[in-house]
Amino acid sequence: MNCPQCGALIGSDALYCSQCGAQATALSSPKAQPVQAQPTTPLTPGVSPPSQRTSALALASLVFGALSWMTLPVIGAVAFATVGLILGYVQLGLVFFAAVILLSVLILGIRLTGTSL
Ligand SMILES: [Zn+2]
Repeated sequence: MNCPQCGALIGSDALYCSQCGAQATALSSPKAQPVQAQPTTPLTPGVSPPSQRTSALALASLVFGALSWMTLPVIGAVAFATVGLILGYVQLGLVFFAAVILLSVLILGIRLTGTSL
């Protein structure tokens, strides 16, 4: 570009003229405006992130769904194991109570028979 003061050739990045020392900001400022306008233009890149977020959410949902399907059998096995243990203890308890009841009935019968006799 040329210096606005003396017309000498100046580098595009130069802030001052090397010949007369005049500021080249008068010419550089019009070029700075398009640079400032560029950040506003990337609206199309701003539109793409939502699609990427939705894809990430979809992938996360798929991953969590797969994990839930993978963990369901384990949870079911643990639940069945706990239920089996509880049923086993309940059966032991029922057997214990049944034995106690039978013994009490036998003792009462023996006493009743002993008293009756
Ligand atoms: Zn100059």
